[in-house]
Amino acid sequence: MLKQENRIFTNLYGFESTGLVASKKRGDWKDTKKFIKKGHDWVIDEVKKSCLRGRGGAGFPTGLKWSFMPKEPPGGKPSYLVINADESEPGTCKDRDIIRNEPHKIVEGALLAGYAMRAVAAYIYIRGEFYNEAMALQKAIDEAYKAKLIGKDACGSGYNFDVYLHRGAGAYICGEETAQLQSLEGKKGQPRLKPPFPAGVGLYGCPTTINNVETIAVVPTILRRGGDWFASLGRENNTGTKVFCISGHVNNPCNVEEEMGISLKELIEKHAGGVRGGWDNLLAIIPGGSSVPMLPRSICDTVTMDFDSLREQQSGLGTAGVIVMDKSTDLIEAIERLAHFYMHESCGQCTPCREGTGWMWRIMKRLVKGDATLDEIDELLDVTKQVEGHTICALGDAAAWPIQGLIRHFRFLIEDRIKNFSKEVA
Ligand code: SF4
Repeated sequence: MLKQENRIFTNLYGFESTGLVASKKRGDWKDTKKFIKKGHDWVIDEVKKSCLRGRGGAGFPTGLKWSFMPKEPPGGKPSYLVINADESEPGTCKDRDIIRNEPHKIVEGALLAGYAMRAVAAYIYIRGEFYNEAMALQKAIDEAYKAKLIGKDACGSGYNFDVYLHRGAGAYICGEETAQLQSLEGKKGQPRLKPPFPAGVGLYGCPTTINNVETIAVVPTILRRGGDWFASLGRENNTGTKVFCISGHVNNPCNVEEEMGISLKELIEKHAGGVRGGWDNLLAIIPGGSSVPMLPRSICDTVTMDFDSLREQQSGLGTAGVIVMDKSTDLIEAIERLAHFYMHESCGQCTPCREGTGWMWRIMKRLVKGDATLDEIDELLDVTKQVEGHTICALGDAAAWPIQGLIRHFRFLIEDRIKNFSKEVA
């Protein structure tokens, strides 16, 4: 269990003031100028040393990502940092608490990350529905400008850096990094083909790095306590702390910061008050936000919560949004609901996703009743494989994986439903 002294988000629940004075008392903005004076490469090296992996879902090494940014952009173009605060994945609400209760960690992190990659400004893209959170974050940005922590000569370091907050209009796809750039530019939020990658051609055609809120918010603490400290938490290649969101059939749904690699069972029993009706009443868990494959109880008994362990189980840490489903859950209906969500949120640009998400949902809808043939289970699986990996962005995979997880672990439930339906009809 994470020791109190290793906690980064000490005001995650908003028990204390979120203003600048209180944030400074908690340690924010301490030595920020000193870190900038140590140079761009020092900041990147410290983050590389920490082995921090992106907290938005993909888990790409953050320091490495930053090092892709050009030192001297061609044509004297500016470089930008974009912070993804479009948290829209069902079952995920970690960034929301960070934004409303620890906004100064994000603003300070923006400055330090922006400095590392030689950016002139950060654009924070926040989902439109987070109105109160946007107000809280804007207040922190205003306070930081007033105290000369950002803007011209940020923290008295001689470095100029602006932070802009942009509210989205409520589209899941705008959480995809290149769709987010399109949306920031005032265009329809549709993902771009890669290459070119944003580090070469990003926002307004300039070098850009897009990072998740949590990734940025942990950077100041990593620099203050050292990359080695962060790397000492968790396990190799899966280091540091992580904010987990636990929802569904637990006694005490919550967000909690824990060490990477904590066992799923411990996470639920210690922090969420256990599964409703006890651990034996557990049916399945989606461990990383709605887009990753579910795990049956037999795997939940022993699996640990980190990128590599969950990948070994053919699932993923994703956003660490843990959705717990007890034995009262109709798993087929639950996945049908998710299939509908992804169909609705598809931007429609590429055929496998536009057509496939609708196709998958329509079969799922019939499977809820059992109104299908046994062959159609494999047909559905085949459609998921035709969509997976054949689209511009990861929404196609996100639509395919929950269905694959259902078939992989609970095929018998679908078969029973089909057999019962045919008996009823006969
Ligand atoms: Fe749009 Fe889906 Fe293609 Fe992504 S995968 S670009 S959401 S159609």
